Amino acid sequence: MDSSSSHALNESLHICSESHEDRRLYMQDKPHSAYAQLPVIYFVTPTYPRREQIPELTRLAHTLLHVPRIHWLVANDYERCDTYMDMLLNRFGIPFTHLSSPMPHKFRSTKPAPRGVANRRAALQWIRQHNLTNGVLYFGDDDNTYDLRLFSEIRQTQRVSMFPVGLIADYAVSGPVVRDGKVVAFLDSWVAGRRWPVDMAGFAVNLAYMSLYPNVNMPYKPGYEEDLFLRSIGLHIDQIEPRGMNCTEVLVWHTQTKSKKAPIVRLEKKFLDGRSNLGALFRSLKEMGVASVSDTEGPLATISKNGKGKAHSYFLS
Ligand code: UDP
Ligand code: MN
Repeated sequence: MDSSSSHALNESLHICSESHEDRRLYMQDKPHSAYAQLPVIYFVTPTYPRREQIPELTRLAHTLLHVPRIHWLVANDYERCDTYMDMLLNRFGIPFTHLSSPMPHKFRSTKPAPRGVANRRAALQWIRQHNLTNGVLYFGDDDNTYDLRLFSEIRQTQRVSMFPVGLIADYAVSGPVVRDGKVVAFLDSWVAGRRWPVDMAGFAVNLAYMSLYPNVNMPYKPGYEEDLFLRSIGLHIDQIEPRGMNCTEVLVWHTQTKSKKAPIVRLEKKFLDGRSNLGALFRSLKEMGVASVSDTEGPLATISKNGKGKAHSYFLS
Protein backbone atom coordinates (compact mmCIF):
# COMPACT_ATOMS: atom_id res chain seq x y z
CA MET A 1 0.00 0.00 0.00
CA ASP A 2 1.42 3.41 -0.88
CA SER A 3 1.93 6.00 1.82
CA SER A 4 -0.73 8.39 0.53
CA SER A 5 -3.50 5.88 1.14
CA SER A 6 -2.35 4.47 4.46
CA HIS A 7 -1.95 7.48 6.70
CA ALA A 8 -3.15 7.00 10.23
CA LEU A 9 -6.51 8.27 11.33
CA ASN A 10 -5.89 11.83 12.45
CA GLU A 11 -8.60 13.89 10.82
CA SER A 12 -9.49 17.46 11.62
CA LEU A 13 -13.15 17.40 12.51
CA HIS A 14 -15.70 19.89 11.28
CA ILE A 15 -18.98 19.50 13.11
CA CYS A 16 -21.66 21.55 11.34
CA SER A 17 -24.46 20.84 13.78
CA GLU A 18 -25.64 18.13 16.09
CA SER A 19 -28.51 17.12 18.31
CA HIS A 20 -28.30 14.58 21.09
CA GLU A 21 -31.97 14.88 21.88
CA ASP A 22 -34.39 12.24 20.62
CA ARG A 23 -37.58 14.17 19.85
CA ARG A 24 -39.50 11.15 18.60
CA LEU A 25 -42.41 10.12 20.82
CA TYR A 26 -43.08 6.66 19.41
CA MET A 27 -41.11 4.11 17.45
CA GLN A 28 -42.74 0.93 16.14
CA ASP A 29 -45.81 1.41 18.36
CA LYS A 30 -43.84 1.80 21.58
CA PRO A 31 -43.01 4.98 23.46
CA HIS A 32 -39.48 6.30 23.35
CA SER A 33 -38.96 5.30 27.03
CA ALA A 34 -39.53 1.59 26.31
CA TYR A 35 -36.16 1.44 24.57
CA ALA A 36 -33.97 3.25 27.12
CA GLN A 37 -31.86 0.18 27.96
CA LEU A 38 -30.81 -0.69 24.41
CA PRO A 39 -27.25 -0.03 23.19
CA VAL A 40 -27.06 2.87 20.74
CA ILE A 41 -26.42 2.18 17.06
CA TYR A 42 -24.04 4.75 15.52
CA PHE A 43 -25.20 4.78 11.92
CA VAL A 44 -22.51 6.38 9.72
CA THR A 45 -23.73 7.76 6.41
CA PRO A 46 -21.25 9.21 3.94
CA THR A 47 -23.04 11.47 1.49
CA TYR A 48 -22.11 13.98 -1.21
CA PRO A 49 -23.74 16.85 -3.06
CA ARG A 50 -25.59 15.85 -6.23
CA ARG A 51 -29.17 16.26 -7.25
CA GLU A 52 -30.20 12.93 -5.68
CA GLN A 53 -28.71 13.78 -2.25
CA ILE A 54 -31.75 15.25 -0.53
CA PRO A 55 -34.17 12.60 -1.85
CA GLU A 56 -31.78 9.80 -0.74
CA LEU A 57 -31.36 11.26 2.75
CA THR A 58 -35.12 11.81 3.06
CA ARG A 59 -35.81 8.18 2.21
CA LEU A 60 -33.12 6.94 4.57
CA ALA A 61 -34.38 9.20 7.38
CA HIS A 62 -37.83 7.69 6.98
CA THR A 63 -36.31 4.28 7.61
CA LEU A 64 -34.27 5.48 10.58
CA LEU A 65 -37.35 7.18 12.11
CA HIS A 66 -38.56 3.68 12.99
CA VAL A 67 -35.32 2.73 14.72
CA PRO A 68 -34.97 3.40 18.46
CA ARG A 69 -31.67 4.35 20.13
CA ILE A 70 -29.83 5.49 17.04
CA HIS A 71 -27.33 8.28 16.48
CA TRP A 72 -27.09 9.26 12.83
CA LEU A 73 -23.64 10.46 11.76
CA VAL A 74 -24.15 12.21 8.44
CA ALA A 75 -20.76 13.03 6.95
CA ASN A 76 -20.98 15.24 3.90
CA ASP A 77 -18.27 15.20 1.23
CA TYR A 78 -18.40 18.99 0.95
CA GLU A 79 -16.03 21.82 1.91
CA ARG A 80 -18.69 23.78 3.75
CA CYS A 81 -21.62 23.22 6.07
CA ASP A 82 -24.80 22.82 4.09
CA THR A 83 -27.48 24.78 5.97
CA TYR A 84 -30.26 23.08 4.05
CA MET A 85 -28.97 19.76 5.39
CA ASP A 86 -29.00 21.13 8.96
CA MET A 87 -32.63 22.12 8.55
CA LEU A 88 -33.50 18.74 7.06
CA LEU A 89 -31.77 16.72 9.78
CA ASN A 90 -33.26 18.82 12.57
CA ARG A 91 -36.76 18.27 11.26
CA PHE A 92 -36.68 14.48 11.70
CA GLY A 93 -36.09 14.54 15.48
CA ILE A 94 -33.50 11.74 15.24
CA PRO A 95 -30.29 12.39 17.22
CA PHE A 96 -27.64 13.29 14.66
CA THR A 97 -24.26 14.82 13.97
CA HIS A 98 -23.66 16.61 10.69
CA LEU A 99 -19.99 16.61 9.70
CA SER A 100 -18.30 18.38 6.83
CA SER A 101 -15.74 15.86 5.55
CA PRO A 102 -14.56 16.66 2.03
CA MET A 103 -12.45 14.18 0.09
CA PRO A 104 -8.84 15.46 0.03
CA HIS A 105 -8.10 17.19 -3.27
CA LYS A 106 -5.42 14.76 -4.40
CA PHE A 107 -7.97 11.92 -4.50
CA ARG A 108 -10.70 13.75 -6.42
CA SER A 109 -9.12 13.09 -9.78
CA THR A 110 -8.01 9.50 -9.16
CA LYS A 111 -9.96 6.78 -10.95
CA PRO A 112 -11.53 5.03 -9.16
CA ALA A 113 -11.80 7.64 -6.40
CA PRO A 114 -12.05 6.57 -2.75
CA ARG A 115 -15.78 7.26 -2.44
CA GLY A 116 -17.02 8.03 1.04
CA VAL A 117 -13.69 7.32 2.73
CA ALA A 118 -12.91 10.82 4.06
CA ASN A 119 -16.45 10.86 5.47
CA ARG A 120 -16.15 7.50 7.25
CA ARG A 121 -12.73 8.45 8.59
CA ALA A 122 -14.21 11.64 10.01
CA ALA A 123 -16.97 9.62 11.68
CA LEU A 124 -14.38 7.22 13.18
CA GLN A 125 -12.51 10.23 14.47
CA TRP A 126 -15.70 11.63 16.03
CA ILE A 127 -16.29 8.29 17.79
CA ARG A 128 -12.71 8.27 19.05
CA GLN A 129 -12.87 11.87 20.29
CA HIS A 130 -15.98 11.06 22.29
CA ASN A 131 -14.31 7.98 23.79
CA LEU A 132 -17.35 5.94 22.89
CA THR A 133 -16.97 2.41 24.17
CA ASN A 134 -20.63 1.57 24.33
CA GLY A 135 -22.84 0.83 21.37
CA VAL A 136 -22.51 -0.49 17.86
CA LEU A 137 -21.03 1.04 14.71
CA TYR A 138 -22.59 0.48 11.31
CA PHE A 139 -21.62 2.02 7.94
CA GLY A 140 -24.84 2.75 6.07
CA ASP A 141 -24.51 4.50 2.71
CA ASP A 142 -27.18 6.99 1.69
CA ASP A 143 -28.46 4.95 -1.25
CA ASN A 144 -28.85 1.45 0.24
CA THR A 145 -32.13 -0.11 1.36
CA TYR A 146 -32.38 -1.25 4.98
CA ASP A 147 -34.85 -3.77 6.38
CA LEU A 148 -35.94 -2.71 9.88
CA ARG A 149 -35.03 -6.17 11.16
CA LEU A 150 -31.37 -5.36 10.39
CA PHE A 151 -31.22 -3.00 13.36
CA SER A 152 -32.37 -5.57 15.93
CA GLU A 153 -29.93 -8.05 14.41
CA ILE A 154 -26.87 -5.81 14.73
CA ARG A 155 -27.73 -4.15 18.05
CA GLN A 156 -26.40 -7.04 20.15
CA THR A 157 -23.07 -7.28 18.29
CA GLN A 158 -20.35 -8.39 20.75
CA ARG A 159 -17.32 -7.93 18.48
CA VAL A 160 -18.13 -8.02 14.75
CA SER A 161 -21.34 -9.32 13.23
CA MET A 162 -21.77 -10.12 9.54
CA PHE A 163 -24.67 -10.84 7.20
CA PRO A 164 -25.39 -11.00 3.45
CA VAL A 165 -25.86 -7.85 1.34
CA GLY A 166 -28.17 -8.15 -1.66
CA LEU A 167 -27.48 -6.71 -5.13
CA ILE A 168 -23.68 -6.82 -4.87
CA ALA A 169 -21.70 -7.37 -8.07
CA ASP A 170 -22.00 -10.46 -10.29
CA TYR A 171 -23.82 -12.77 -7.88
CA ALA A 172 -26.26 -10.09 -6.73
CA VAL A 173 -25.18 -11.01 -3.21
CA SER A 174 -22.09 -10.95 -1.01
CA GLY A 175 -21.75 -12.47 2.42
CA PRO A 176 -20.38 -15.11 4.75
CA VAL A 177 -20.58 -18.87 4.20
CA VAL A 178 -21.82 -20.40 7.45
CA ARG A 179 -21.54 -23.98 8.64
CA ASP A 180 -22.78 -25.21 12.02
CA GLY A 181 -23.36 -21.63 13.11
CA LYS A 182 -19.80 -20.51 12.29
CA VAL A 183 -18.46 -18.31 9.50
CA VAL A 184 -16.05 -20.49 7.50
CA ALA A 185 -15.57 -18.51 4.25
CA PHE A 186 -17.06 -15.78 2.04
CA LEU A 187 -19.11 -15.66 -1.14
CA ASP A 188 -18.28 -12.59 -3.24
CA SER A 189 -17.55 -12.35 -6.98
CA TRP A 190 -14.54 -10.06 -6.45
CA VAL A 191 -11.92 -11.62 -4.16
CA ALA A 192 -8.83 -9.64 -5.27
CA GLY A 193 -6.76 -10.99 -2.41
CA ARG A 194 -9.08 -9.61 0.24
CA ARG A 195 -9.09 -11.55 3.49
CA TRP A 196 -12.49 -9.97 4.28
CA PRO A 197 -14.27 -9.77 0.91
CA VAL A 198 -17.41 -8.14 2.29
CA ASP A 199 -19.40 -5.01 1.52
CA MET A 200 -19.36 -1.94 3.75
CA ALA A 201 -23.02 -2.62 4.62
CA GLY A 202 -22.33 -6.27 5.50
CA PHE A 203 -20.96 -5.93 9.02
CA ALA A 204 -21.35 -4.12 12.33
CA VAL A 205 -18.78 -3.52 15.07
CA ASN A 206 -19.09 -3.25 18.83
CA LEU A 207 -17.45 -0.03 20.07
CA ALA A 208 -15.94 -1.58 23.20
CA TYR A 209 -14.24 -4.08 20.91
CA MET A 210 -13.12 -1.40 18.44
CA SER A 211 -11.66 0.72 21.25
CA LEU A 212 -9.14 -2.06 21.93
CA TYR A 213 -7.55 -1.20 18.57
CA PRO A 214 -6.11 2.33 18.70
CA ASN A 215 -4.78 1.92 15.17
CA VAL A 216 -8.24 1.53 13.65
CA ASN A 217 -8.06 2.83 10.10
CA MET A 218 -9.86 3.05 6.80
CA PRO A 219 -7.28 3.78 4.12
CA TYR A 220 -7.95 5.64 0.88
CA LYS A 221 -7.71 2.47 -1.16
CA PRO A 222 -10.73 1.95 -3.43
CA GLY A 223 -12.11 -1.57 -3.20
CA TYR A 224 -10.12 -2.43 -0.10
CA GLU A 225 -11.77 -0.15 2.48
CA GLU A 226 -13.72 -2.94 4.21
CA ASP A 227 -10.83 -5.40 4.17
CA LEU A 228 -8.28 -2.97 5.59
CA PHE A 229 -10.70 -1.59 8.16
CA LEU A 230 -11.47 -5.10 9.44
CA ARG A 231 -7.76 -5.96 9.42
CA SER A 232 -7.07 -2.84 11.49
CA ILE A 233 -9.30 -4.13 14.27
CA GLY A 234 -7.61 -7.53 14.47
CA LEU A 235 -10.59 -9.60 13.38
CA HIS A 236 -10.38 -13.42 13.51
CA ILE A 237 -12.78 -15.52 11.50
CA ASP A 238 -13.92 -17.54 14.50
CA GLN A 239 -15.01 -14.35 16.28
CA ILE A 240 -17.51 -13.32 13.63
CA GLU A 241 -21.13 -13.45 14.70
CA PRO A 242 -23.34 -14.47 11.76
CA ARG A 243 -26.70 -12.64 11.73
CA GLY A 244 -29.94 -12.88 9.79
CA MET A 245 -30.79 -16.50 10.60
CA ASN A 246 -27.19 -17.65 10.10
CA CYS A 247 -26.82 -15.49 6.98
CA THR A 248 -29.82 -16.96 5.19
CA GLU A 249 -31.74 -13.64 5.06
CA VAL A 250 -31.00 -10.45 3.15
CA LEU A 251 -31.63 -7.49 5.45
CA VAL A 252 -29.76 -4.85 3.45
CA TRP A 253 -29.65 -4.14 -0.27
CA HIS A 254 -26.98 -2.35 -2.27
CA THR A 255 -29.50 -0.38 -4.30
CA GLN A 256 -28.09 2.30 -6.59
CA THR A 257 -29.88 5.39 -7.75
CA LYS A 258 -29.51 6.42 -11.35
CA SER A 259 -27.67 9.69 -11.29
CA LYS A 260 -28.18 12.61 -13.65
CA LYS A 261 -26.76 16.08 -13.88
CA ALA A 262 -28.81 18.90 -12.35
CA PRO A 263 -30.48 20.71 -15.28
CA ILE A 264 -30.65 24.41 -16.01
CA VAL A 265 -34.21 25.38 -16.87
CA ARG A 266 -34.75 28.48 -19.01
CA LEU A 267 -37.41 30.57 -17.30
CA GLU A 268 -37.47 34.34 -17.20
CA LYS A 269 -36.25 35.43 -13.77
CA LYS A 270 -38.50 38.48 -13.80
CA PHE A 271 -41.49 36.16 -13.42
CA LEU A 272 -40.05 34.27 -10.45
CA ASP A 273 -41.50 36.53 -7.79
CA GLY A 274 -44.56 36.12 -5.60
CA ARG A 275 -47.00 36.06 -8.52
CA SER A 276 -46.84 32.26 -8.74
CA ASN A 277 -45.40 29.26 -6.92
CA LEU A 278 -42.55 28.87 -9.37
CA GLY A 279 -40.16 31.35 -7.77
CA ALA A 280 -40.28 29.64 -4.36
CA LEU A 281 -40.28 26.17 -5.92
CA PHE A 282 -37.14 26.77 -7.96
CA ARG A 283 -35.38 28.55 -5.09
CA SER A 284 -35.83 25.43 -2.98
CA LEU A 285 -34.77 23.12 -5.85
CA LYS A 286 -31.64 25.25 -6.17
CA GLU A 287 -30.89 24.94 -2.44
CA MET A 288 -31.27 21.17 -2.66
CA GLY A 289 -28.93 21.04 -5.67
CA VAL A 290 -31.66 19.60 -7.91
CA ALA A 291 -32.14 22.24 -10.63
CA SER A 292 -31.47 25.89 -11.35
CA VAL A 293 -33.06 28.50 -13.60
CA SER A 294 -31.54 30.87 -16.09
CA ASP A 295 -32.83 33.61 -18.41
CA THR A 296 -30.54 32.56 -21.20
CA GLU A 297 -29.34 28.97 -20.74
CA GLY A 298 -30.96 25.56 -20.90
CA PRO A 299 -34.07 24.27 -22.63
CA LEU A 300 -36.96 26.71 -22.56
CA ALA A 301 -39.48 25.63 -19.92
CA THR A 302 -42.80 24.59 -21.38
CA ILE A 303 -45.84 25.78 -19.48
CA SER A 304 -49.12 24.44 -20.81
CA LYS A 305 -52.85 24.34 -20.29
CA ASN A 306 -55.37 22.11 -22.05
CA GLY A 307 -52.54 20.43 -23.91
CA LYS A 308 -51.19 23.67 -25.39
CA GLY A 309 -47.88 25.30 -24.54
CA LYS A 310 -47.98 29.08 -24.16
CA ALA A 311 -45.43 31.86 -23.66
CA HIS A 312 -44.39 32.28 -20.02
CA SER A 313 -45.93 35.72 -19.92
CA TYR A 314 -49.35 34.21 -20.66
CA PHE A 315 -49.53 32.58 -17.21
CA LEU A 316 -46.92 34.43 -15.21
CA SER A 317 -47.04 38.13 -16.02
N1 UDP B 1 -19.86 9.22 -1.67
C1 UDP B 1 -19.15 10.34 -1.23
N2 UDP B 1 -18.39 11.04 -2.13
C2 UDP B 1 -18.28 10.69 -3.44
C3 UDP B 1 -18.99 9.55 -3.89
C4 UDP B 1 -19.74 8.83 -2.98
O1 UDP B 1 -19.26 10.69 -0.06
O2 UDP B 1 -17.58 11.38 -4.20
C5 UDP B 1 -20.69 8.43 -0.72
C6 UDP B 1 -22.09 8.10 -1.24
O3 UDP B 1 -23.03 9.09 -0.87
C7 UDP B 1 -22.37 6.75 -0.61
C8 UDP B 1 -20.98 6.13 -0.46
O4 UDP B 1 -20.04 7.20 -0.51
O5 UDP B 1 -22.98 6.88 0.68
C9 UDP B 1 -20.65 5.13 -1.58
O6 UDP B 1 -20.80 5.77 -2.83
P1 UDP B 1 -21.74 5.17 -3.98
O7 UDP B 1 -23.07 4.80 -3.42
O8 UDP B 1 -21.75 6.14 -5.10
O9 UDP B 1 -20.90 3.89 -4.39
P2 UDP B 1 -21.43 2.45 -4.82
O10 UDP B 1 -22.48 2.05 -3.86
O11 UDP B 1 -21.98 2.63 -6.19
O12 UDP B 1 -20.21 1.62 -4.74
MN1 MN C 1 -24.14 3.03 -3.19
